[in-house]
Amino acid sequence: MDEFVDTHAHLDFPEFAADLPALLERATASGITRIISVGCDLASSARAVALAERYPQVYASVGWHPGYVEEAPADFRAELRALAAHPKVVAIGECGLDHYRLPSKVEGSGKTAADDAAYQAKQIGVFQQQLEVAAELGLNCIVHERAAFEPTVAMIRPFADRLRTVFHCFVGTPEQMRVVIGLNGLVSFTGIATFKNADVVRSSLLAVPADRFMFETDAPYLAPVPHRGKRCEPAFVADLARYAAGVRGVSLTELGAQVQATTRGFFSRLR
Ligand SMILES: [Zn+2]
Repeated sequence: MDEFVDTHAHLDFPEFAADLPALLERATASGITRIISVGCDLASSARAVALAERYPQVYASVGWHPGYVEEAPADFRAELRALAAHPKVVAIGECGLDHYRLPSKVEGSGKTAADDAAYQAKQIGVFQQQLEVAAELGLNCIVHERAAFEPTVAMIRPFADRLRTVFHCFVGTPEQMRVVIGLNGLVSFTGIATFKNADVVRSSLLAVPADRFMFETDAPYLAPVPHRGKRCEPAFVADLARYAAGVRGVSLTELGAQVQATTRGFFSRLR
């Protein structure tokens, strides 16, 4: 069977509390032999590490998501280093910038443009710390970028000679994909690539060089067709991969071998 890694899932989320062992069995049966559980803050990262200790096929990434920065301490580098010391931690993240969900855009929040500016400044500080720790430890970064492509690239650029980044849940244009590749980075596709209205994502999926992309679910979100709207789970990477092979006009076996080599090259601690 063709093997794939789900490079981005949130196995610690409450959506999976009731049936995680069965979900992992379904993933294995579908050829998804490794899953990276991605942390969103220190507590979630610690839970991801605990899952990696319990289940042989689960690995962890540790970091602080830009959407959760209001709760972040001023300096969490020591805690992040300690978590990243675990041998099954394969990356730092998810980390990055998100200008889509700004405080003032939340209805009834009473927040202003000044609150948005403070929030964006905090995101920069939180992202910067993670880039520094990743570079120091020789780990790559899983990047969350939404409505903030240019500033995210500008923050990564000074680190591009020391670490690699994957733009997770990539929904950008082929031009943006080429910018990411210019940073020696990768893009990673979710089930969004299978959605009817996702022509831009498909054009990037078609244009991306064979050694510059990976797959993920972002479970519990973004289930690919034909599971759209349901809770997403790692087994669905198989549906996404089949679809992507069709878009690129290659066999699933050829695609699988290529993506597997890319994934293991990027996450070098994956066994
Ligand atoms: Zn995520």
